[in-house]
Amino acid sequence: MAQRVDPTFMKSLEKFGVKDWKDCFHCGNCTASCPLTEEDYQFPRMVIRQAQMGLKDKLKSNLDLWMCYFCGDCTKTCPREANPCEIMRSIRRFQISAYDWTGLSKKFFTSTTWELSFIIGIGVIVLALFALFLPPSPELWTNPALFLNEQGGVMINNMVESISGPQFVKIIEYGDWTMAVVVGGLLISNILNMFYLTLLKDKSLHIPFTAYFTEFWKLIFHFSTQDKLRKCDDKSYWVGHVLLMTGYTIMFVIIVGLLPKFQIEEIVPWYNWQRLLGYYATIGILVFLIPVVIGRFKKKKCKLKHSHPTDWHFIIMLGLTAISGILVHIFRITGMPIATYISYVLHLAILVPMIMIEVPFSKWSHLAYRPFAIYFAALKKAGVEKEKVEPTPAFA
Ligand code: SF4
Ligand code: SF4
Repeated sequence: MAQRVDPTFMKSLEKFGVKDWKDCFHCGNCTASCPLTEEDYQFPRMVIRQAQMGLKDKLKSNLDLWMCYFCGDCTKTCPREANPCEIMRSIRRFQISAYDWTGLSKKFFTSTTWELSFIIGIGVIVLALFALFLPPSPELWTNPALFLNEQGGVMINNMVESISGPQFVKIIEYGDWTMAVVVGGLLISNILNMFYLTLLKDKSLHIPFTAYFTEFWKLIFHFSTQDKLRKCDDKSYWVGHVLLMTGYTIMFVIIVGLLPKFQIEEIVPWYNWQRLLGYYATIGILVFLIPVVIGRFKKKKCKLKHSHPTDWHFIIMLGLTAISGILVHIFRITGMPIATYISYVLHLAILVPMIMIEVPFSKWSHLAYRPFAIYFAALKKAGVEKEKVEPTPAFA
């Protein structure tokens, strides 16, 4: 298939964070030292080559890039200090932008102003909605004890109900489900676009129908275990990733799918499954975040030496979400209604933009794209194998 060459492509990749691409002279050290490269997936040298040649469409359909977990091992061996790990990471940002049909990913990855404006804008809308519909009632200031339950804990739903009426508890739930549908729908539509760009667009590829089912386990397995990352030198990276991924997924499911089951009035004992899941999610996120933040400041580890603005936005949003969530919990179980109300409002003003921006458009989305890429790569392989067994007739 003829490939269109875009001579300005590398220049445009610089906006996604690529810096030292001209230094690569294709010695192949990085590919040789990468613990994750396989016969079927040749990276990072091949990917860098495609980028340098301006093969934009080829890179859009490239699934190899997703087999890289950005451990940084290859960067240590580059004789030209071209930082192949960072080049791969930057090209991944380009790919995520290519999958996103709305064009917002590209805006967020290439412009800090755009991403911060959206984050702050959505946060302000959340604050404005609270100011309009759920302002603190005089009772909250004059008689906060009204909002305590029998165990002395703060009743969040009752607080909302007594301030603005029972219909507003439902409004919060409906708002939550609307957010789930919008965010989930955007992410799914982008994944379908990825499916088109990486598999469907290639008309010569005929994937056996059964492969869609027989290979599906790979999606679930790699999503839940991050197994490939175990092969990298630094095993702590794998542990951190598993904790983050499971913690974040639990948090996402709790917030956008099961809120009525979790936001209950009763203060359940610490060993109750609801509280344990919440603790696991919070600890998982913090155990990942703390060393990453320290590492990005220290700039010693290859994988954390260079930080793109979107790396920091993600870390800051996730950290603030976890901290504000911890504060809501502490204030609630210790019976402090005013502090609970204020921290709850701030928590939502951080959490809602984080979910709406990060999940479908920005850095977080890679947690969804990667397992799908592994699944799609398995489908592609099945299609190629089929072609070997049943070659297409030359004159059909
Ligand atoms: S990035 Fe470095 S190690 Fe990899 S091929 Fe280029 S020069 Fe060699
Ligand atoms: S960052 Fe790690 S996984 Fe990615 S290409 Fe380099 S060595 Fe391989």
